[in-house]
Amino acid sequence: MIERPNSKAVDRKRRLALAASDLPLRDAAVRVADFEEAYGAWDLETARAEAERCIQCPAAPCVKACPLGNDIPYALWLLEHGDVAGSAAVFRDTSTMPEICGRVCPQSELCEGACPYTKQGRPPVPIGRLEAFVTDRTPRAEDRPVPPSGHRAAVVGAGPAGLTVAEILARRGHAVTVFDAWPAQGGVLRYGIPTFKMSHRLVSEFEERLRALGVEFVPDTFVGDDLSVDDLFSRGFETVFLGIGAGVYRESSLEGADLPGVHQATPFLVRANVDEALRPEDLAEAATVGRRVAVIGGGDTAMDCVRTALRLGAEEVTCWYRRTESEMPGNPRDRELARQEGAKFRWLAQPVRFRADADGHLAFMDCVEMALGEPDDSGRRRPVPVDGSGLTAEVDTVILSLGYGGDMESVRAIPGLDAGESGLIHIDAETGATSREGVFAGGDAVLGPALVVTAVAQARRAALAMHEQMTADARMEPAASWSTR
Ligand code: SF4
Repeated sequence: MIERPNSKAVDRKRRLALAASDLPLRDAAVRVADFEEAYGAWDLETARAEAERCIQCPAAPCVKACPLGNDIPYALWLLEHGDVAGSAAVFRDTSTMPEICGRVCPQSELCEGACPYTKQGRPPVPIGRLEAFVTDRTPRAEDRPVPPSGHRAAVVGAGPAGLTVAEILARRGHAVTVFDAWPAQGGVLRYGIPTFKMSHRLVSEFEERLRALGVEFVPDTFVGDDLSVDDLFSRGFETVFLGIGAGVYRESSLEGADLPGVHQATPFLVRANVDEALRPEDLAEAATVGRRVAVIGGGDTAMDCVRTALRLGAEEVTCWYRRTESEMPGNPRDRELARQEGAKFRWLAQPVRFRADADGHLAFMDCVEMALGEPDDSGRRRPVPVDGSGLTAEVDTVILSLGYGGDMESVRAIPGLDAGESGLIHIDAETGATSREGVFAGGDAVLGPALVVTAVAQARRAALAMHEQMTADARMEPAASWSTR
């Protein structure tokens, strides 16, 4: 094993002078013609050269900025010295899904945002892409059966939080059953994130790994409706994890929002990005778009819809946002990729009505111009309509991406569960325990629409607490002990 570097011996001046390589992006004109991942793969020499740019900061701000505390400098040191498997093992020591996080984390807000190169206005060490590179190239060791502990846990929700809990508990010998309302596993990883950002093959591989560990899956089951939490306890589960996400989308009350040609973001993305065999019956029909598409919203989901519509062949796709780009909440890197792929943007405008043509199909979107007023609760300047303004855009497809909230219906169906008015579950921050004994929660169901990596981090804490509860005398072990190498 290659030792960690002696911090004093690292020649930082030489490293800081090294030039950055281009990211391995496929050409925009090529990638927009398919649904394959936008990023290709580096060769080993380029990946090693990028890892060598890491100056091995003693304070490691990137580690502090990573919600999982990945030991990034050491992983990059190993890669730089050609130990790809060792580097992958370091990421897997603290993350259940580094292949996925390396692709979908908003790194510019996290690890790469804290990189000293970023502070200098230079390209950061591309930590996420290197994390994906080493873990893609390193097959996991075959899972050996774990002696059964005799304990049983139920996980509700097969998204990143639920799958993380399932893996950690299964590796400790507990019998885990995962329930989910969708027909296949993955939650937002499969039914939210498009394949051009992250191949869904990674989700299937995760599922296979869990099956090899003995995890059972029960799809098409809505806990709170088909099955209650009380039912789970009466079936012999000792503890329950709620990873039900925050996927209830905000509907539009605007006139014409029910016209043919107006779509909600989630069903649109599912119908465009998920294999038909894995879609629910009501979303079996593949998504199509017209010539002129308007996507309403400014978050990551809006950008996913923009890029999906371009791949479906729309001639013109415009993202309409009621503030300016400075206030846009989504990942700026995805926005840049969308621009390269042909997306247009219209700032400071908001639709007020959708109108049909003589055939009854969407044809026009009436809007008002907006101006920025005083900051609102989010700290961003509030958009206010400009009196007397108005414009009409000719569109034949509108995709509404107006944000998501907690699943109040599911939460209300669980007696004794404390939750906020928005349906987000209250937990103990250290353990993930809810107000209901034996019930834990984590991920978007607690945080609201957040990140895959924060869901994994929260689920990790909850899984360790669930393990402790089931085994009573078990001592909490350090994170490295649940390595998923
Ligand atoms: Fe960066 Fe996300 Fe990987 Fe952490 S998990 S090192 S934040 S890409």
